[in-house]
Amino acid sequence: AQALLDEKDPQAAALGYVADSAKADARKYPKHDNAQLCNGCALWQSKPTEAQGNCALFAGKQVSAKGWCSAWARKG
Ligand code: SF4
Repeated sequence: AQALLDEKDPQAAALGYVADSAKADARKYPKHDNAQLCNGCALWQSKPTEAQGNCALFAGKQVSAKGWCSAWARKG
């Protein structure tokens, strides 16, 4: 399995990625909502039921299903 994305990874940090959506920086990202999760994001590429999966933005790493970043987009 691919390694889990580190929140301190420069690209992850630039997008405010957190493995737990509830820990997102609400001051920096006022549009964040705890209901926004990686497994409900348009860029999520794995099954909705996986605990971690692939994201179109982070090649070679996996993100947490319950994670979040500022590129979160509602599924079309
Ligand atoms: Fe998660 Fe979506 Fe950000 Fe990828 S783009 S890390 S799936 S919120």
